[in-house]
Amino acid sequence: MTDPLSTPSPSWLLGGNLLKNDWIYRFLRSRWYPGIIQWPTLIVFMVIMFQLMLGPSVTHDNFGSALTWVLWWPIIPIIFLFLGRFWCAICPFATINDLVQNFVGNNRPVPKFLKKYGVWIIDALFIFITWSDHVWGIVENPVGSGILLLMLTTGVVASGAFFERRMFCRHLCFLGGLAGNYAQAGMISLHGTPEICAKCNTASCYKGTETAPGCPIFEFPKTMQSSANCVLCGDCIKNCPNGSIQLTMRPPTTELWFVHKPKVEAAFLAAVIMGIVFVQNVTMLEVWGSILSWLERVTGTTSYYVTFSITFAVAIALPVSLLAWASIVATKYNKASFVDNFTRFGYAIIALDLAAHIAHNLFHLLAEGKSIWYTGVEIFGVESHGASPALAGMATIQTLQFGLLGLGFVGSLYIVYRIARSNFQGDVVWATFKPYAVLMGVLGILNVMLFTLPMSMRM
Ligand code: SF4
Ligand code: SF4
Repeated sequence: MTDPLSTPSPSWLLGGNLLKNDWIYRFLRSRWYPGIIQWPTLIVFMVIMFQLMLGPSVTHDNFGSALTWVLWWPIIPIIFLFLGRFWCAICPFATINDLVQNFVGNNRPVPKFLKKYGVWIIDALFIFITWSDHVWGIVENPVGSGILLLMLTTGVVASGAFFERRMFCRHLCFLGGLAGNYAQAGMISLHGTPEICAKCNTASCYKGTETAPGCPIFEFPKTMQSSANCVLCGDCIKNCPNGSIQLTMRPPTTELWFVHKPKVEAAFLAAVIMGIVFVQNVTMLEVWGSILSWLERVTGTTSYYVTFSITFAVAIALPVSLLAWASIVATKYNKASFVDNFTRFGYAIIALDLAAHIAHNLFHLLAEGKSIWYTGVEIFGVESHGASPALAGMATIQTLQFGLLGLGFVGSLYIVYRIARSNFQGDVVWATFKPYAVLMGVLGILNVMLFTLPMSMRM
């Protein structure tokens, strides 16, 4: 077997292969990885489940709620940015899937309709879970959060029992859909070395060897051109007999400059995520109560199902419609089909999605961060006596939020430019760029307006 360490590389940190670093290479190839992080994560998950189902009934006092919604949920998009889908390698659902599979797995092939429509199902699940969170108050209620996690666990157990590898993670997990989009904007990439893979006909990385199983999410590093699915589990690094796998750092969003096989469902999800960020912000605003009262007067009903569903539909429809509008305008100039434009340029929203998502979550992390400590010590009878949960003041948080939005806006604009340049020539590049620049401008301004208004706390 070829050892990548045998070929010198002075620049493993600066765009070179991180696996040239002795420590990283040996850690990722060792039998301790990813188990050494995976198993503690599963134990924390069980503590969270116990707290959610049997701990304090008020979110404000529940350690499970604090760990889930103030720590894990806020940092998850940051992990996607820096480490791609690494979370998915240590996710407790993936561990449960593997455990069930080892004991009672039937290893049936993935149904064809899931391969074909999986991302659409993920889109629909993502929309449904966000909607149900608001109308049934899942986040606001520890038992509700626990039931959501239990339902996901049931899906994972069923998937592990019947289907091969991590079918749930690849084709059904709503977080996996989000992770797939964000990982493409992320700073880490795993891939085979084309010249080495071209001479290889073992496919050990895909099929697995005695050392480690085959790729759990059905990827083949030899042909893998995107970070959307790779969870950085390290199995292919252990299995490849030729030392072909490379792990490289790259500037954020690079992969989005040229997506090899853009998918309309991923572009749609990018626009939907922006709508969901709008919803999350709007419903946390202190003026949300006034908006609801106005909607109740207009619709003549006090049903929250109706008023929230209207708000939700408008928030989701807005970015999708704006993307559709920009694509119709661009079609006039570049003569590509509407679907082609919608699909290609929809990916450009991901940078702004990621920035707005992190900016929103920064509020929870920094304005409510100490609640993790307070609820944790409360288990041992130590009262916090109404102490502020804030780790930083609102001025600091807002400065960071606007900085992030600025970066996301510039990132999205640049992606639009790069996509236009790689698909068109001459004046058509700028003619195509303009409507999408307007789209990013409108989405950016809407975000800035929402982040300017005062928000109410969850914890
Ligand atoms: S990554 Fe390794 S095992 Fe997979 S195709 Fe390339 S050389 Fe072969
Ligand atoms: S491509 Fe390699 S690291 Fe990525 S998920 Fe598959 S086996 Fe794991």
